[in-house]
Amino acid sequence: MINSLCRKTVLLTQIVICVILLLAGSGCSANHKDEVVVILKTKSYHTDECPRVNMANAQVLTIAEAKALDCKPCPGCKPGTR
Ligand SMILES: [Zn+2]
Repeated sequence: MINSLCRKTVLLTQIVICVILLLAGSGCSANHKDEVVVILKTKSYHTDECPRVNMANAQVLTIAEAKALDCKPCPGCKPGTR
């Protein structure tokens, strides 16, 4: 009994560490708020969290570069307003 409780605690600790690392990672990427995900096919740019982004056809550029390519901001995820 005690042994299985211990294992559960270890597992829980590992999950908590994973979540903290994930949060720390997204906190880091939020610092690069000039970066957007550009989809050249549709001439639009998105935040990296946008569900419309298909990574196969997307590339990460700055907003300035996206605008230079005549891309429009996505109305769904509103890139550049964070
Ligand atoms: Zn979008």
